[in-house]
Amino acid sequence: MSERCVYIICAHSDDQTLGPGGTAAKYAREGIDVHTIIMSYGEFSHPWMQGHVTVKTRVKEAQKADKIIGGKSVTFLGLKEGEFEKGMQDKHLYIKLRKKLNERKPEKIFTHSLNDPLPDHRATHNIVKKLVKKMRTKPAVYSFDIWNVIAIRKRNRPKLVVDTSDTFKIKVKALLCFKSQRLSVYQILPRIALYNLLDGIQHGMKFAEKFRRVDIDED
Ligand SMILES: [Zn+2]
Repeated sequence: MSERCVYIICAHSDDQTLGPGGTAAKYAREGIDVHTIIMSYGEFSHPWMQGHVTVKTRVKEAQKADKIIGGKSVTFLGLKEGEFEKGMQDKHLYIKLRKKLNERKPEKIFTHSLNDPLPDHRATHNIVKKLVKKMRTKPAVYSFDIWNVIAIRKRNRPKLVVDTSDTFKIKVKALLCFKSQRLSVYQILPRIALYNLLDGIQHGMKFAEKFRRVDIDED
């Protein structure tokens, strides 16, 4: 286990790859441990997740993708969609997760943006804020966008731009692990590639992933 680590906390089993996949692969290559926590198995809310895919399949796919990225762990919290906050409370997950985060002392936590149109993505953002607020050593929290390329709120928030030119291909390879959603991944992939390309061009890189710093004391 490395001294240095980052966490990705997201709603569904492919968000960690769609959002900060290239960044995660880059950090892993640099010897930073990447841990992923996934709120739910994502049965309902992703429009591109169609058909009845078993939970086991989803877990397997997420683990396979994580292996390609070079991540250290994927943890599913198994919360019911639409009820993340309730589930966090009922299962005493705030206490458990905060304990783990206090032990591991991540440098950064990546999570969904508040601009995200999906309620479960925004709920995850708020849960991360609540978790970090009471941590002993506070990590920097960064948000990523999947659907909304143009951030409507807080455009002037400090940014983190990660050059993912060398790991963009790894991200694509990891995304293709989500076979149960293959059709949908194929649909969303060109968009993700375009965003990463545009963010790259804007910053003089081939590909880049862009994040915004989250002010955890702000409601
Ligand atoms: Zn999602």
